[in-house]
Amino acid sequence: MAWNTFPLTVVGVDMITPSVLSLTFERSDGEPFEYKAGQFINIHFEADGQAVHRSYSVATPPDGGAFDIAISPVKDGRATTLLFGLKVGDTIDASGPYGRFILRDDEPCRYILAATGTGITPYRAMLPELKELLAKGFTVDILLGIWRREEALYAKDFMDFCDDNDGAVFRACYSREMPEEPRLHEGEGHVQIHIAALDPRPETDIVYLCGNPNMIDEAMEMLKAREFPTKKLRREKYLPART
Ligand SMILES: Cc1cc2nc3c(=O)[nH]c(=O)nc-3n(C[C@H](O)[C@H](O)[C@H](O)COP(=O)(O)OP(=O)(O)OC[C@H]3O[C@@H](n4cnc5c(N)ncnc54)[C@H](O)[C@@H]3O)c2cc1C
Repeated sequence: MAWNTFPLTVVGVDMITPSVLSLTFERSDGEPFEYKAGQFINIHFEADGQAVHRSYSVATPPDGGAFDIAISPVKDGRATTLLFGLKVGDTIDASGPYGRFILRDDEPCRYILAATGTGITPYRAMLPELKELLAKGFTVDILLGIWRREEALYAKDFMDFCDDNDGAVFRACYSREMPEEPRLHEGEGHVQIHIAALDPRPETDIVYLCGNPNMIDEAMEMLKAREFPTKKLRREKYLPART
């Protein structure tokens, strides 16, 4: 397949949790990078003489300028090795944007936006759009599944958003290590448990699921048992690449 690639320059490098890397890019050709909140890019590179690509959701709301991706490390991963070695000024090839994991023209409802790990990034990009929807009568529950508090990427952004916007609730769900003194927004157990605890109903709710494929499969099964039609379930599985 011939990809329509463009060069990106690294303009920022930051560890945003003990394990997750954030990279900020700008198009090196001076063109704006236009995308919808929730979409992803592919990065293209060579490994062992082979052309490979990997997908990463964009973590920042679209404004045509610089944008972030967040990378969770995979042991000996090809893209992991490349991306964790980048420094400001380096360039890589990318293509996109891709994907239909975006907010649509829905009637006012409750959005349940659930994610594991870096699967939370599309929702961060959606925050300005969600702000407008809240003003129109929507409500939103944002659920982040993560091992422990220290890995709760972008938690402060979501907490600040909820403080500033009535109708928005953020919950960080810890699957392995609960803090001794949990805060109001923190809960124990897998994110699926916390989705179920919201008593989701197809008459009132639309559910977005992003990240770990097992989490998504389990949540889909539970939601289908609750008679959710496919059009009210939207998902982005972070499936490992085949090459
Ligand atoms: C639409 C989409 C969006 C994505 N967005 C993001 C994102 O925003 N942030 C992000 O960090 N990742 C994201 N991913 C995953 C990302 O594309 C890569 O698959 C991931 O970074 C690993 O790539 P790698 O080249 O480092 O590892 P690879 O070289 O592909 O894998 C190395 C080895 O690890 C195994 N492996 C790969 N992934 C995993 C895993 N998750 N858990 C356990 N074993 C694994 C492989 O099977 C292989 O044996 C997304 C995937 C998709 C499909």
